[in-house]
Amino acid sequence: MKLIADTHTHTIASTHAYSTLQEMVHAASEKGLFAIGITDHGYSMPGGPGAWYFGNLNTVPNRLENVWVLRGAEANVTDYRGTLDIPEGDLKKLDWVVASIHSCCMPENVEPDVRLCTRLWLEVAKNPYVNVIGHSGSPEYAYDYERVIPEFGKQGKLVEINSHSFEVRASYIPNCQEIARLCMKYRVPVIVNSDAHFSASVLDCSAGLQMLEDMGFPEELVVNSSVERFSEYLRAHTHFWK
Ligand SMILES: [Zn+2]
Ligand SMILES: [Zn+2]
Repeated sequence: MKLIADTHTHTIASTHAYSTLQEMVHAASEKGLFAIGITDHGYSMPGGPGAWYFGNLNTVPNRLENVWVLRGAEANVTDYRGTLDIPEGDLKKLDWVVASIHSCCMPENVEPDVRLCTRLWLEVAKNPYVNVIGHSGSPEYAYDYERVIPEFGKQGKLVEINSHSFEVRASYIPNCQEIARLCMKYRVPVIVNSDAHFSASVLDCSAGLQMLEDMGFPEELVVNSSVERFSEYLRAHTHFWK
């Protein structure tokens, strides 16, 4: 399976990533990608972008070097009600939003459990600005996959297969497999992303693709495996070309 877009990547604006936006786009162009999502971490990530970053992101052209540039964010979920750390006024201006849990941005005084995390993701599923459910295979934040995955599908959310997780978050792998299995069972579309923090890692998705291949995952459910499928998603669920 070949990918035509990588929709979860970081730049120096995240301050623990090391390439500029232009270097990321250039890498995407060199690799012949149709689109790249620039999704720096939300404001509450330590070292994250300053308060005006997302509100001003439409300063960047949406097309550079023959690549569509989705000017987006990786918003942090900040509580068990599914609240995101980017205000609605900024979210609605963005082309693309990944929502992810990072433990550093969650309340310290609450012990996560399946009931709380299920509620969290059911709330995020209702958020009209969210496109992608980012690397949700964390064992610490396990949720009722059987109940929530179909809901992601109904609300037009793409379940991320985060290739980076297979390299740096090995404890996630069994849950990632279970999530993918349920996406297959309920016909919920997924998106395979690199989560690159350096330009050379753009489209570095081989581990995620390998897992899908091993389980016989249907290509037609991988939204970024064809220009047609990906364009259709953009038209139906975002204001990118409107
Ligand atoms: Zn990061
Ligand atoms: Zn990320």
